[in-house]
Amino acid sequence: MSDLNDLYQEIIIDHNKHPCNCHSMADCTSKAEGYNPLCGDQIEVFVKKEGDLLTDVSFVAQGCAISKASASLMTTYTRGKAILDVEKLAHEVSELLTSVDEPVIQDDHFGDLVALIGVRKFPARVKCATLAWHALEACLHGENKVSTE
Ligand code: ZN
Repeated sequence: MSDLNDLYQEIIIDHNKHPCNCHSMADCTSKAEGYNPLCGDQIEVFVKKEGDLLTDVSFVAQGCAISKASASLMTTYTRGKAILDVEKLAHEVSELLTSVDEPVIQDDHFGDLVALIGVRKFPARVKCATLAWHALEACLHGENKVSTE
């Protein structure tokens, strides 16, 4: 398992150092702020919706490596997708991180998102990893603030 953990760690470190879609969006259709008081992570997620599509998504964040890496991964896996699929993925990722049973990963369904599973071993950090996803869901539901508490 240790090789796999190293790989997971590398993905997190890489996304933290070189986050994707890390900028504000002046012409977004909605945005939401997320706050994780446990760790002090703050995030703002911006989305652009056109019909049933999430045509663009970006974020700005101040927080730990896990919260930023998770946000970066989130944008790369949701940008340009159908909103229904995005909602499904957000739900699946949250299950992945919080389910009582060890998750079973099939094929390549989650791609690099599996790196977030490493966080399961550190329950205090799970909220760091889910923050961006909660903020994204808030955006999609027309809410503008979300807290992990
Ligand atoms: Zn954090």
